[in-house]
Amino acid sequence: MIENILSVDIEEWFHPEAVQYQFPTEIWSEQTGRVDENVEKLLNLFDEKNAKATFFTLGWVAKEYPGIIKKIVDSGHEIATHGLMHRMVTKLTPEEFEKDLGESIKILEDTSGQKILGFRAPTFSIVEETFWAWEIMLKLGLIYDSSVYPIWHDRYGVPDAPRSVYTALEHEGNSLTEFPMSTMRLFGKNIPFGGGGYLRIFPNWFTRMGIKSVNKEGLPAIMYMHPWEFDPEQPKLNLGKLQSLRHYYNIDKNLSKLGQLLDEFKWTSFKNVIEKNSN
Ligand SMILES: [Zn+2]
Repeated sequence: MIENILSVDIEEWFHPEAVQYQFPTEIWSEQTGRVDENVEKLLNLFDEKNAKATFFTLGWVAKEYPGIIKKIVDSGHEIATHGLMHRMVTKLTPEEFEKDLGESIKILEDTSGQKILGFRAPTFSIVEETFWAWEIMLKLGLIYDSSVYPIWHDRYGVPDAPRSVYTALEHEGNSLTEFPMSTMRLFGKNIPFGGGGYLRIFPNWFTRMGIKSVNKEGLPAIMYMHPWEFDPEQPKLNLGKLQSLRHYYNIDKNLSKLGQLLDEFKWTSFKNVIEKNSN
C-alpha cells in the first residue's frame, strides 16, 4: 500500500490571503489566537488514526506559540516552513524572500530542535515568475518544496507543470525536489482534490477517487489543510459570495471527513517518504 503524504499549513485564522488584507501585521498580536486549540484537534485525530504529518509552520506562529511546536515534535511529526509572515512569493523581491525564509528557518529550528528540510509557499505562490525562489531555498539548506499546483486557478497554479515529483534544481551535488500538489486527470484536465477548499467542498467519494487514481500511477497523494478549516467558532468575516464559499464551506464537517480518509489510507510526512526513497 502506497504511503500518502499528510500536510498542515500552520497559520492563524487571519493569515490566509482571502482575509489578510483586513489584518495588517501590526494588529496580529491583538487578535484572539485560535491556532493552538485547532492544531490540538488535528494532533489528537492524527494520533488516533496513527498518521504522521508534515506541519509547514509560519515562523510568526512559532515565535508567538512555541508550545505548539513542542506538541507537534513530541507527537513524532515533521516541522517544515510556511515562511515567516505569510507573504506570497509573487509579492517579494528575491532579497525579501531570502530574509523572510531564512528567519523562519532559524526560528523553527530553534524551537523544534529539528533540521528544517522543506517549504510550502503561502497561497502556492511558486509560479512561473517565481521559479527563482528554488535557488534561494537550496542556498538556505532546504531539500524539498511543495508549492507548485499544476492547475489553472485565478490566484495561483502552473497548469503545465509536471504532476509527479521532480527535481526542480541541482547545484554542486545538492538538489531540490518539488512535490507538486495532487491532481487527477479527468476529461483531459488536471483536477485538484484533497486539500483546503477542495477537501471541504468535494464529497469524500471524489477525494477517495483522486487518491486511488494517483496511487495507481505509483504516486503518493498529498493532502493539505489549515487549522482554521476545522474551527466553526472562528470570527466570520464578510468576504462576498465566492470567497465565503471557498473559505468557510463545510468547516463543521471537515474533521469527520478527514477522519474517514485517514482510516482508509496510510499517511506519513514528506521527510519519511524522502528517507524511504533514498534507502
Ligand atoms: Zn498559508
